[in-house]
Amino acid sequence: MVSEVRDGYDPSAVEAKWQRIWDERRTNLFTLEELRGAKDPYYNLMMFPYPSAEGLHVGNIYAFTGADVHGRYQRLRGRTVFEPMGFDAFGIHSENFALKVGKHPMDLIPSNVANFTRQLRRIGGMFDWEHSVDTTDPAYYKWTQWVFVQLFEAGLAERKEAPVNWCPSCMTVLANEQVIGGECERCGTPVEQRRIAQWFFKITRYAERLLENLTRIDWSEKTKKAQTNWIGRSEGALLRFPVVDGKGRETGVVIEAYTTRPDTVFGATYMVLSPEHPLVEKVMNPGLSAPVYAYRDKARQKDLVARQKVDKTKTGVSTGGYVRNPATGKPIPIWIADYVLMGYGTGAIMAVPGHDQRDFEFAEQFELPIVRVVAGPGQDADTPLDQAYDGPGSLVNSGQFDELDWREGARRITQWAAENGWGEPQINYRLHDWCISRQRYWGPPIPIIYCDACGPVAVPEKDLPVVLPRVEDFRPDSSGVSPLARVESWYRTKCPKCAKAARRETDVSDTFLDSGWYFLRYPSTDFDDRPFDRQVTKKWLPVDTYIGGHEHAVLHLLYSRFITMALHDLGHLDFEEPYDVFRAHGLIIAEGAKMSKSKGNVVVPDPVIEQYGADTLRTYLMFLGPFEEGGDYRQDGIQGPFGFLHRLWETVLSAGAGEPDPDVERKVHQTIRQVTEQIPTLQYNTAIAALMECLNTIRAGGRSAARAEVEPLVPMLAPFAPHIAEELWERLGHEGSIFDAANWPAYDEAKAAETRMTIAVQVNGKLRGSIAVPKGAAEADVVAAARADENVRRYLDGSKERKVIYVKERLVNFVVG
Ligand SMILES: [Zn+2]
Ligand SMILES: [Zn+2]
Repeated sequence: MVSEVRDGYDPSAVEAKWQRIWDERRTNLFTLEELRGAKDPYYNLMMFPYPSAEGLHVGNIYAFTGADVHGRYQRLRGRTVFEPMGFDAFGIHSENFALKVGKHPMDLIPSNVANFTRQLRRIGGMFDWEHSVDTTDPAYYKWTQWVFVQLFEAGLAERKEAPVNWCPSCMTVLANEQVIGGECERCGTPVEQRRIAQWFFKITRYAERLLENLTRIDWSEKTKKAQTNWIGRSEGALLRFPVVDGKGRETGVVIEAYTTRPDTVFGATYMVLSPEHPLVEKVMNPGLSAPVYAYRDKARQKDLVARQKVDKTKTGVSTGGYVRNPATGKPIPIWIADYVLMGYGTGAIMAVPGHDQRDFEFAEQFELPIVRVVAGPGQDADTPLDQAYDGPGSLVNSGQFDELDWREGARRITQWAAENGWGEPQINYRLHDWCISRQRYWGPPIPIIYCDACGPVAVPEKDLPVVLPRVEDFRPDSSGVSPLARVESWYRTKCPKCAKAARRETDVSDTFLDSGWYFLRYPSTDFDDRPFDRQVTKKWLPVDTYIGGHEHAVLHLLYSRFITMALHDLGHLDFEEPYDVFRAHGLIIAEGAKMSKSKGNVVVPDPVIEQYGADTLRTYLMFLGPFEEGGDYRQDGIQGPFGFLHRLWETVLSAGAGEPDPDVERKVHQTIRQVTEQIPTLQYNTAIAALMECLNTIRAGGRSAARAEVEPLVPMLAPFAPHIAEELWERLGHEGSIFDAANWPAYDEAKAAETRMTIAVQVNGKLRGSIAVPKGAAEADVVAAARADENVRRYLDGSKERKVIYVKERLVNFVVG
């Protein structure tokens, strides 16, 4: 053993050796038989990357390493861990980059994927490269198209014309989830509104279940909360307001409005329609058509999100028409305003300026009446309103409902409306259907064929995939159709039903459909004739733990839940929630600032790995802070973990055979207990700190370690620094990979128990030292030990000791004078 110490720690040699051995021994690879027969399977999933041309930065490495640590830990506990990795390579990101550099994405993506693969191998992830996916591979997107067809045939995919967000720079529509503060999430261009026929997935049909299941799944709280808010369930009432003419006679036209506050209907003093509301023409005074149409045209230019901004100045015009408020019986004017959207509720609202701030501001601006119908504490029916009051209270100015508590009032008024035929209770959701079409090139063609006789027909499974043709001019244009619409030879086809001439859908699908089901594909990539094998899927899914970015809370994480639920309902899956556990990791910054290309502070892993090794980088990243919170990457900080690995190497290889020191052994068992508790809860930073501290105890005062003291540190370090752990494990004389068996050390509660107590020592009431003595030590022994403490002695020497006070097991105080 001792002779090997001279052989110093050389990370690149150790890492190259073990990566080669892992490949040779297929340490991380599964055959189909192994997947089928796995004992105690554990599916450890992380979010697959979009393979950019720049390669991975340390922020990506951080996320993957944290997930890999989790998988490796499970494996050391004896689970059979499947940890796949793939590439989310379709989409506008890739396409825009290809356009920028003047290359074809079909040429660019393979080299990006190769570079990512090289980097991911180099960091030592436990990836099963034989079960990888690339969403741009026809063998993969064949099944993405199959998913579309399943949903289409189940009536869950629908083509309709709708106002949508249009990014004039990306020249495509965006889902609302992709519009951030009125701007395109990709390029930051202000988003416009367009009406285009689009394919939608009816995710709204699943709103209640998507919400309900959140109470049963073990996910990061903030992610569940984001989904809850996004789904936006509200309970209220649908009320019907009859349109009346100038003489107060009903015209037969009725406007429906959804409200969460039916208790305030007596305070509805006007009604607002979305400018696009189909009844605008029917209710407006023809003399006002010019300003109404002008306003409507202007509203169409604005994007849907910006229109809802709370702080913007209210705009609107009167239609000159009236409805009767069915509660008060009085006519109230109908306005149009862009803050009311057609896509939400009914596209019409009853405006209650007394109790809704947006309505209040609108009413002030256009001098519409404001009536109080809820009185809060200390208010009554006549208390003036200088802003909307939206708190609790009792009803006022509300006829027979006066004095009722507002909640009870809402119930009673809804009931009254139902009895009189002008309303009923209703539950609404903020969630809207998922717009799935993109007028771009770089995606899987939507597998639909339009036939004049048969309408839209799904491409039969035997004809899938609909291969994306190589088109040299793949630039999008502002026509609102995909570049594929310029390739007549491709889109001209025959109807699968009647064989007449027909035309392919030329839009491609949203990249979030590619990632909506990829976790189903990984364990089944051995099968070309089915998207996922029933038996393998049953064995491995749902995913045991999914670790990824919180920024995907309402996009990927919601969509993939929906796809899973839909496939479950169609009989393809036995479960309806894809991920048992989801944990959102934190984000890292560099030298105190957010990493960004423009700031030039993006940390690239390759040179760091070259200098220090992947194990040191991994350990350092996990040491930066709590994994779920992130941390600050500082160049000089890596020295700590680097030195730690060197010291561990030296200590393990110079360890002798002797009996462990009882104090050191206790520390080791306490460390095992702590690390065993903290790794599963992703408290990696404190687990690593405990390992460092334990090694310091083992090496304290330059003593040479016993093998039994230091050996347990090797498997505990293995999730963070797998290569060095393998090497040390081998040098300790073990056969095979450290990850091949349940090599996690066990701790002995009795050995971990503290047998010493810490006693504070004071001189004249001032703390001068602290001593550790065996538990249950006699008072005389404690006092003697206290008196012997070096620092305490300095204060005692030359003084006369008058009294010694001993507080049992806590404190010794010498009174001197
Ligand atoms: Zn854009
Ligand atoms: Zn046909």
